[in-house]
Amino acid sequence: MSEGMGLSKIKRMNFKARKRRAAALAKKAGVDSLLVTHLPDVRYLSGFTGSNAALMLAGGKSVLFTDGRYTAQAKTEAMGTRVVIANKPAVTAACEWMVEAGVKRSGFDAIHTTVAALESMRKAVPAKLRRSLFVAVEPLVEGLRQVKDEDEIAKVRAAAKLGCQLFDGMLEYLRPGLTEMEVAATLEHRARLAGAEAMSFETIVASGERSALPHGRASSQKLPKRGFVTLDFGVVLDGYMSDMTRTVHLGKAQPEERDVYDAVLEAQEAAVQAVVPGVTAGEVDEAARSVLRKVELDPWFTHSTGHGVGLEIHEGPRLAAKQTQRLEPGMVVTIEPGVYMPGRFGLRIEDMVLVTAAAREVLTPSVKAWVEL
Ligand code: ZN
Ligand code: ZN
Repeated sequence: MSEGMGLSKIKRMNFKARKRRAAALAKKAGVDSLLVTHLPDVRYLSGFTGSNAALMLAGGKSVLFTDGRYTAQAKTEAMGTRVVIANKPAVTAACEWMVEAGVKRSGFDAIHTTVAALESMRKAVPAKLRRSLFVAVEPLVEGLRQVKDEDEIAKVRAAAKLGCQLFDGMLEYLRPGLTEMEVAATLEHRARLAGAEAMSFETIVASGERSALPHGRASSQKLPKRGFVTLDFGVVLDGYMSDMTRTVHLGKAQPEERDVYDAVLEAQEAAVQAVVPGVTAGEVDEAARSVLRKVELDPWFTHSTGHGVGLEIHEGPRLAAKQTQRLEPGMVVTIEPGVYMPGRFGLRIEDMVLVTAAAREVLTPSVKAWVEL
């Protein structure tokens, strides 16, 4: 019991610190309050996981608006945030509250707010305020979310660990003749039995020629006697996501398949080693790309090297060519170069990597060395 109380106190402090940082960023952006409507941001700042919510940060206060379906849930989840149950859309209730509270300029998320949503926000306030009240700002909370706190790192680590356990189990199971969908179904079934709330995204199982599709959703195709199988999947634990890819070979490989695998692995490991605080996202991308360039495989590496992951599967930072953003301790990024030769074969290897003060920690230690089943 006392331990539980201790934990909830820590959680409340975490949310308080996050809200304080968001409010400071809003102030810096020239607004006196912030309307938060992107649901992962609402969850990050308040703990609330419901599907209809708006959060206001204004004058040191935080108020969460939701509806009657979530009365009990909001009270337990949104610790340290005032909850208002409204019988109208949460955003409308938030806008009316702003007028009453005398808010002058409120930031809203320019990326996630649709034109229609902005229109209804404006309709919810008196005509004279419509122009001045709402100020488009960049996604400030999403920016904050890139650097994870201890609590979040523990959750991401647990999700990544479960992902690895599931992959290790699949090594015993994969064999020619199973359909890709059977493989995905088995993986997802095992994930749920092991406690995953959901998969982070639609499981990718791409085998044989289909391994040349960077995002080959599991199909009815059967795993071949000889050829690559790429598994790219993730699980959600306590809201936080994992993301990993491994490629194994069924049967005896052609020398070229082996060479390409070795090159992708070398590129992947070079990019992992490049992850240190202060490096730019573009430099990490280049670390992978330059290895593939040396062996003239870079034209088939057709996507960026990685992305942040946390409450969402694709978050900042973006690890792509020429990106100047610098990595900081607490960021969790994927490193996932691949080579895809249409009509022939392809492969990708992906880890999750935590940036630490010293350098990095790989969160997905499942085997990456060549596996022939
Ligand atoms: Zn992935
Ligand atoms: Zn990924």
